[in-house]
Amino acid sequence: NTDLERAQTLITSIPDYPQPGVNFRDISPLIADGPALRAVTEALIAPFEGQFDIVGGLEARGFLFAGTIAAMTGVGILPIRKAGKLPRPAAAVSYSLEYGTATIEGPDVLKKGERVLLVDDILATGGTLSAAQALVRELGAEVVGSAVVLELKDLRGRSLTGDVHTVFAD
Ligand code: IMP
Repeated sequence: NTDLERAQTLITSIPDYPQPGVNFRDISPLIADGPALRAVTEALIAPFEGQFDIVGGLEARGFLFAGTIAAMTGVGILPIRKAGKLPRPAAAVSYSLEYGTATIEGPDVLKKGERVLLVDDILATGGTLSAAQALVRELGAEVVGSAVVLELKDLRGRSLTGDVHTVFAD
């Protein structure tokens, strides 16, 4: 699949951003390219076709792929938001960052037992995605899978998240 191979080359590494020693992956060139975006979206959903009722996107770049997945499959979107953005959060989960903690929240839109596919751009330490998995369960639904565009393997995020479907790994 040449569009998928090209998509990987469009992910750009930015050294020392947002702080010295961090190698930031920028997916902007990938999402700017229509065929690459479509190929990545197809690869994200391939193992889960017909197995999810709604797609949960993690703010902010996870929203982009949740949108493309929803449009291509006809399911709806669960926006998983950073704390303080939802008018009436139904559940919240806090998790550890390198310095301090962060909290994510979700709206009251899930039906009991609904099957959620979680999606984000990057799996790094796994803190964000594992918190999202806990949040979905707290909302009374089921996580059928977690999918990311790029896994940064050295950070061993899967120790927190369990199995994750990854389109690319670095
Ligand atoms: P984690 O919680 O450490 O796994 O970090 C994952 C979250 O941080 C995801 O929501 C990503 O969007 C974001 N993130 C971590 N590293 C990068 C990066 O290199 N580029 C873009 N986003 C990143």
